[in-house]
Amino acid sequence: MFSPRRVVVLGATGSIGESAAKVARALPDQMKIVGISGYNNLKRLAELAKEFKPSTVSTKDKSHAEQLLKELTSSSPAPLVVEGEEGLLRLATLPEAELIVIAIVGTAGLKPALAALRAGKNLAIASKEILVMAGQEVMTTARKYERQVLPIDSEHNALFQCLEGRDPTTVRRLILTCSGGPFRNIEASELAHVTPSMALRHPTWSMGSKITIDSATLFNKGLEMIEAHHLFGFPMEKIDVVIHPESIIHSMVEFIDGSLLAHMSQNDMMLPIQSAITYPRRVPGPCNPLNLPEIGALHFEKPRHDLFPALQLAREAGTQGGTMPAILNAANEKAVELFLEEKISFTSIWNYVATVMQQLPSIPTPTLEEIIEADHAARNAVLQLYKRG
Ligand code: NDP
Ligand code: MG
Repeated sequence: MFSPRRVVVLGATGSIGESAAKVARALPDQMKIVGISGYNNLKRLAELAKEFKPSTVSTKDKSHAEQLLKELTSSSPAPLVVEGEEGLLRLATLPEAELIVIAIVGTAGLKPALAALRAGKNLAIASKEILVMAGQEVMTTARKYERQVLPIDSEHNALFQCLEGRDPTTVRRLILTCSGGPFRNIEASELAHVTPSMALRHPTWSMGSKITIDSATLFNKGLEMIEAHHLFGFPMEKIDVVIHPESIIHSMVEFIDGSLLAHMSQNDMMLPIQSAITYPRRVPGPCNPLNLPEIGALHFEKPRHDLFPALQLAREAGTQGGTMPAILNAANEKAVELFLEEKISFTSIWNYVATVMQQLPSIPTPTLEEIIEADHAARNAVLQLYKRG
C-alpha cells in the first residue's frame, strides 16, 4: 500500500507554494502537507494552515507568530507555531517529513535546505538562487547523505526527465529554453524607459515579482544556466540557451549522435511540482495534455546578447566559479529590489551586477561562510553604487 508523501513547503504563501497547494488538493492520496512557512502574508498562511492542518507552521517573527496563534486557536488540532530562521530549520528537519519543497524567493532557503539533507530528507528545489550561490555545497551534501535533489524549476525538471537513465558521456549540450520575456522585440533605445509595471507583465508565465523581473532582464535564464551546471554536473560551455516564445518545450538535451530530446507540456508549474512530489512514479494529475494542432507552430530564435548582457555575465560567473556566482546572484537580487522600488533604471540592473562582479574578488574554493560573506559584500556594493548615484 502506498501512503501519501509527507511534504513540507517552505514559501507556501508564494506563487510556487500556491501551485504546490493545488497539487496537494488535486492528489490527496499522493501528497500530504505536514509543514508550511510564510513570511509577510500572515492572512494567507493562516488560511493554508486551516485548510491543510500541518503539524507545524513557521512565520517571520515573534509578533507574527503571536498573531497566527490567535488566528489558529480554534483550529483542531492547533499546529505548533515557530518563527524566523530557527522556525525554517525546525520545519526542514521535521521528523515526520520525507520531502522538503524549497520555494522561498532568494537565498533564505539555503540553510534549511542543507539542514534538511543532513536530517535525511529529500529536497524539491524551486529556489534557483540557493543552487547558484552554493550549488556545490548543496550537491556535495546530498551525495554525502545519499539524498535526492529534485528540480522544480520547469527547465531543470524537463532536463531531469530527458537525462534520466542516459549516459552523461553521450550528452553534447543542455539547451535551456527561454520565452524571451516581455521585451524580446524591444528597440535598444526603449530599454532605459522600462518601468516595473512594464517588466512585471510576463507573456507566458504568472510568477512572483522577483523572478518576473529576472525573466525580463534574462538574469533568470542566466541563473538557470548555473543552476543546471550544479544540478547535472555539466561544464558551463555545454549549457546553451535558445529563445522559444511559446514556452511549450521546457528544455532539451542534445546527444553526440545528433538526437535532441525535448520535454513538452502546458506551461503550468503544477506539473514539475507533481513530478517531483511523486518521483519516480508518474500518476494522472490536474494538468491537461497538450493539444498540438491547436498550438500549430513552435518558434526558436537566438538570444539578443548585445541588448541583454545577463546571459554572458552568468556564463562568466559560472565559468569562474568560486564565490563569483554568489556575487552575481546577490548583486542581482539587490538591484532588482532597487528597481522595484523605482530607485534605479531597468538597464542599471545589468550595469550594477557587471560593476560589482569587477569590483569584488572571487575566492576559488570557498567555505559556506565565505560564500555568505561574498553575498553580503555584493549586496552592500550595490547599495554603495546606488548611494553614489
Ligand atoms: P513569491 O515571491 O511568489 O513567493 C516567495 C515565498 O517566499 C513566499 O512564501 C514568501 O512569503 C516567502 N519569503 C520571502 N522572503 C522570505 C524570507 N526572507 N524568509 C522566508 N520566507 C520568505 O516567489 P515565487 O513563488 O515566484 O518563487 C519562489 C522561488 O521559486 C524563487 O526562487 C523563484 O526563482 C523560483 N521559481 C519560481 C517559479 C514560478 O513560477 N513562480 C518558476 C521557477 C522557479 P510571504 O509571501 O508570506 O511574504
Ligand atoms: Mg525556469
